[in-house]
Amino acid sequence: MNIHEHQAKELLKEFGAPVSNGVVIFSLKEIDEKITQLKSKDFVLKAQIHAGGRGKAGGVKLVRSLDELKKEASKMMGKKLITHQTGSIGKEVKRLYIEEASEIEKEFYLSCVVDRESSKIAFISSTEGGMDIEKVASESPEKIITTKIDIKDKLEKEDIEKIVSPFKFDERNKKEAEKLLDAIFRILIQKDATLIEINPLIITKNQKIVCLDAKMNFDDNAIFRRPDILKLRDLNEEDPIEIEASKHDLAYIKLNGSIGCMVNGAGLAMATMDIIKLYGEEPANFLDVGGGASKEKVSAAFKLILSDKNVKGILINIFGGIMQCDVLAQGVVDAAKEINLSVPLVVRLAGTNFKKGKEILDKSNLKILSASDLNDAAKKIVEAIK
Ligand code: ADP
Ligand code: MG
Repeated sequence: MNIHEHQAKELLKEFGAPVSNGVVIFSLKEIDEKITQLKSKDFVLKAQIHAGGRGKAGGVKLVRSLDELKKEASKMMGKKLITHQTGSIGKEVKRLYIEEASEIEKEFYLSCVVDRESSKIAFISSTEGGMDIEKVASESPEKIITTKIDIKDKLEKEDIEKIVSPFKFDERNKKEAEKLLDAIFRILIQKDATLIEINPLIITKNQKIVCLDAKMNFDDNAIFRRPDILKLRDLNEEDPIEIEASKHDLAYIKLNGSIGCMVNGAGLAMATMDIIKLYGEEPANFLDVGGGASKEKVSAAFKLILSDKNVKGILINIFGGIMQCDVLAQGVVDAAKEINLSVPLVVRLAGTNFKKGKEILDKSNLKILSASDLNDAAKKIVEAIK
């Protein structure tokens, strides 16, 4: 789960990290009242969406007066912001963060992630902060320092030294950085965050360290024990189909293609998406119905796939283990009866009760193309939607 920049900064502040003063607004009417909480005359107006790259897309504006602030805010609020991270659809701006402007001397990059491969926590630091970190990573990776540490209660001195080494801090800034790293580390551990990214971390003209941007992601599998984090969820930022999927406990991720996929098992789902691409088409979604799904769950999954307007055909690929093919077939038939199935459907069933499953599908009068294996299935659905 992602949260907004203003929420991430609130958490940072709570854990003792340096952030600027700021206020969030949900409507333009709130500006006059909220602005009195800020001291400076120069503000930065920041669109709050769950995506980065806002600076380059017009979602971060320096304003030097209240009038200018209001003018820019009215331009930003309610608009679709398209950044390199939102895709071409963009994201509607429904809240703005007004922050005291900082005078920037230098911009750095700092992040902390769970590194699954090494089962450690990795801090990533670089002098090349700001808006082009992806470019730095691909063109000059030597400028990015990774420090991997074991999961423990507190950061050691030598970890801290290594993490901040590229920044060439003086003693005072090092002390501030120590507090910041400690805060980030504790948030990651205590709140089950999987990513905390500060880009940029800055040194101001009067030599203070400030987190100027903050992005945080939390582990969905641990969110049940973090009600305070779950409260920060913004459903506006999530795909409505994915929200519906999570209600049915389905692992569904919307993609941009035209072939809807219903598969059991994440590995098989990945293989199915790969083979669709191999035949020249794109999957519309990732969907793992999981093992032992009920026919109600299968029905819900099938309806979800069809609610995506881009879907021109569906490929069902089930290898029955715990999942029983007859249960799946019944779920699909039930759903198809409720909604008019107007796109081609290719089904490949193998494993537990596949014969029973096939019988149910054959008797259903649905127009189904059956396939003998995965290869055949992908070929058939790609041909069928042409
Ligand atoms: P994004 O990463 O989405 O582009 P950032 O929050 O990193 O958004 O802002 C982009 C740039 O805007 C920063 O690199 C920084 O130069 C500038 N900026 C952001 N917030 C402030 C602020 N409070 N004061 C001064 N400059 C800022
Ligand atoms: Mg940024």
